[in-house]
Amino acid sequence: MNFHILTLFPEMVLQGLNTSIIGKATERGYISIEAVNIRDYTLDRHGKVDDYTYGGGAGMLMQAQPVYDAYQSIVGRIGQERARRVVYVTPQGKTFNQEMAQEMAQESDLIFLCGHYEGIDERVLEEIVTDEVSIGDYVLTGGELPAMVMIDAIARLVSGVLHNGESAQTESFENGLLEYPQYSRPEIWHEKRVPEILLSGDHVKVDAWRLEQSLLRTKERRPDLYEKYLQGQS
Ligand code: SAM
Repeated sequence: MNFHILTLFPEMVLQGLNTSIIGKATERGYISIEAVNIRDYTLDRHGKVDDYTYGGGAGMLMQAQPVYDAYQSIVGRIGQERARRVVYVTPQGKTFNQEMAQEMAQESDLIFLCGHYEGIDERVLEEIVTDEVSIGDYVLTGGELPAMVMIDAIARLVSGVLHNGESAQTESFENGLLEYPQYSRPEIWHEKRVPEILLSGDHVKVDAWRLEQSLLRTKERRPDLYEKYLQGQS
């Protein structure tokens, strides 16, 4: 899967995504990540990419031309069909969740558009954006962190990225529940003992215990998810 990021801060996203599991997945060729610097496409001779907003108001707005031309440079390289899905990260979008990550992980290419300052001229958004996605009800200074959050969540669902294919399947949200508590060695730490059932070697009982714990935890911490899960069961 190929991620293309339209940004004013390519070094920020590349540095953040070049480490740990995502960095290794890139090295091994399971995913590719490129950052296109929007500033490289401005026609302004001083390299400007932003200007005042019509109608007044504080702050500057990213202009349509450099964003559009930067996007077209990707279309020119990978073709219109592969460049069809463009995600603008914005606090005004639909809130990102695991279901969206799963759906987006089916794509061969995803283009992320990161805004900065007051955002981006609406006219270019109308022309190129297919999805508007928020990472939560708060406002950040730029779209780079949201794009990195989304790419991390999507990339780990791409086949081969996680070593143990199972781990993505048993994690929180995958079956509509939060994950059960987990323990590693030693058996006793700070006088706290690992639940006996996990040492029994009886996988049927372990699975039943884990499901019970997942249900309890979800009911307590995320009653909204718990209700949805129950509705799906009936
Ligand atoms: N003026 C915009 C508004 O009120 O909706 C906010 C602009 S914000 C300061 C600058 C950029 O950060 C946005 O264009 C967007 O790309 C990104 N951004 C900020 N908060 C975000 C969030 N919660 N989710 C996704 N992107 C966000």
